[in-house]
Amino acid sequence: MSEEKKREMYKALGRFLHIEEKPDNTDSGKDKADIERMRREFTASASHELKTPLTTISGYAEMMANGMVKPADMREFSLKIYKESSRMLRLIDDIINLSELDEGAGIENPEKVDLAQIAGEAILVYEKAAKEKGIQIFFSHEPTYIMGDAILIGELVSNLLDNAVKYSGEGGRIRVFVGDTTKGAEISVKDSGIGIPEKDKERIFERFYRVDKSRSKRVGGTGLGLSIVKHICALHSADIRVKSEVGKGSTFYVTFPK
Ligand code: ADP
Repeated sequence: MSEEKKREMYKALGRFLHIEEKPDNTDSGKDKADIERMRREFTASASHELKTPLTTISGYAEMMANGMVKPADMREFSLKIYKESSRMLRLIDDIINLSELDEGAGIENPEKVDLAQIAGEAILVYEKAAKEKGIQIFFSHEPTYIMGDAILIGELVSNLLDNAVKYSGEGGRIRVFVGDTTKGAEISVKDSGIGIPEKDKERIFERFYRVDKSRSKRVGGTGLGLSIVKHICALHSADIRVKSEVGKGSTFYVTFPK
């Protein structure tokens, strides 16, 4: 990584760790002390989340450097280091993404975008990962236009698809729908995966919240995907809801009110 890139990353991280949690409609009752507490909690979890993989990497590298690893085990140890550092990079990517979203109050240059085209492109990216797990993706769509940011909407759909693949088992089915409804333009992503318990449904949009931490880690999660999705929805004044049944699957609906 170049020095300049590093500086950029640290700057973004610094901004991220000092984000003011902007109260939205639902928490307009929050006072300064609440916001300050949320910020402290967030800084603590972000530091912890970054420290965990780094501790593993450092431990394995030290053992290798001290000659404590047999040549036959070298491959396994380097793979572990590779896996943990990939996780850290994903985390940092998500953190930078979130901090950029937090900076702007709105979308800079809204343009007319076709949700169906954006969803179609995102599906292409996930088709391979889905196929490897024996998961089929079905796509039902019609040209559906909104004013927004194509890159951000692409990220939104990708995050939902990523979760649908991650939290579905072998032979699962994913159905993506894009079209106009009575409520407005809509994208929905339905999976036949593990589902989300009722008590966790509201909380999954919080930063670093995971229903099953070890499972999320195993499938390469960061706990930030849905908070990024929520931010992108807010920037587009879109609503997000989830319907889910444990053991049956989940559907995420994003609606752009008329
Ligand atoms: P992660 O990186 O852990 O997937 P997210 O913010 O994207 O983080 O999601 C938060 C949590 O919500 C996940 O850890 C998982 O427990 C739950 N979740 C999200 N999407 C789904 C889904 N499609 N099916 C089941 N659980 C899900």
